[in-house]
Amino acid sequence: MSALISEVVYRGIFQKNLAARIVRGIVLSARKSDRWGIAFGRYGDSPQRNGIPAKDFAIVADTKEELEQNMARYEPKHVDVTICIDDTLSKGVESWAWYGLQPINRLTVPNGTVLMTSLQSVDDLLGDIHQKDAPWKLSLIRAKTSFSGLWVYKEDHTEVRVLGALAKIAPSFLTLDAVCQAIKEMEWGSDLKAASARKAYERLETREIKPGAGNPETPYSFEMPRWWEMREGVTIPAIPIGKPKEGGKGYVPERNPYFKKFTTRTMRPVIDFDTCVKCNLCWIACPDSVFDVMPDGTFDANMEACCGCGVCEAVCPVESCITMVNESVFNDHASQWEMWRKDKAAYKVWLTDKIGNKKATVRSHGFRFRGQYEEELKADLDAGGVAITAGIPGENAKHKTV
Ligand code: SF4
Ligand code: SF4
Repeated sequence: MSALISEVVYRGIFQKNLAARIVRGIVLSARKSDRWGIAFGRYGDSPQRNGIPAKDFAIVADTKEELEQNMARYEPKHVDVTICIDDTLSKGVESWAWYGLQPINRLTVPNGTVLMTSLQSVDDLLGDIHQKDAPWKLSLIRAKTSFSGLWVYKEDHTEVRVLGALAKIAPSFLTLDAVCQAIKEMEWGSDLKAASARKAYERLETREIKPGAGNPETPYSFEMPRWWEMREGVTIPAIPIGKPKEGGKGYVPERNPYFKKFTTRTMRPVIDFDTCVKCNLCWIACPDSVFDVMPDGTFDANMEACCGCGVCEAVCPVESCITMVNESVFNDHASQWEMWRKDKAAYKVWLTDKIGNKKATVRSHGFRFRGQYEEELKADLDAGGVAITAGIPGENAKHKTV
């Protein structure tokens, strides 16, 4: 008797439908392999917010009894496979359900697998993924991170590629034939998608990771009060007034000390302080009070607070003064303004390198211009995808038209 426990770590809302399809696909493929299965979301992750890391789980077992045994737990404490569908989450996860930073491989059992969609090299990813004291495997599906708009699904075959890869990782629970059969029978499936699953199975890259390899940083954590230490009654204190900076020439707003939002972003703003006209618009529009007012009147985005929404880039009136850049090309959360103050010429070189990186500045989600999503969908259809309305799980799909 045995069971296969998988978690899907995804970005709230943008990848909700994708994650739901993956765990559902796992269960249906397991049934085709004569196993039992169940899929569910983590209660503490709801309601979701844009970009917030969230989890779904799928459990497959040889027998009904064993499945029930696993279902009796509130949520799995250990998983055989961690499926990560945005590689910037390799830096760690801070969700609604978790205080502090949870390494992406925290629940992965010894000799278990982290399955990730990524175009990065294994070594680059290991610079971000925290080390473990047991061996584990990193399996890569070479694919761009799949993001949709809110509540919809981008038809780029990511879900079936993950299912095909899982058949390679755990063939005793999901055979490739069972996965393909399940895909073809699902309302969003097709022969083309079954072919994508087979390709992912054949092309999966796996590397064994030794104990101690990876990011040596100790993940930050918070000491939360015990229930008997909490105050009586329910009060929510207002955010205190911020602090002056450098003798009152600047200002640093107060922020939530227990929730650092940098794991909610896939992109971060990079600012050209030389071209900033000090219009205040980014400061006013930022939904998370991320900008510190600097002594010279420019604004520095605090990287421990930014959720990566891209609003500041959209409102900034100066061309290329704020540019959103993919999180994977950064190794720290240091102040950009301090870097600029210290050495303006060196900052210019750094900035030009970051915002000139065409791959890293392609928007992973959110829009740069009206009609962008329609263009992306058309490109997907031209590449062999199917109409998005065919891909919305649930009965209402058939009532919708393109
Ligand atoms: S992307 Fe810009 S607007 Fe959005 S949270 Fe970060 S700094 Fe604020
Ligand atoms: S919106 Fe742009 S120009 Fe205006 S203060 Fe912010 S960075 Fe400077």
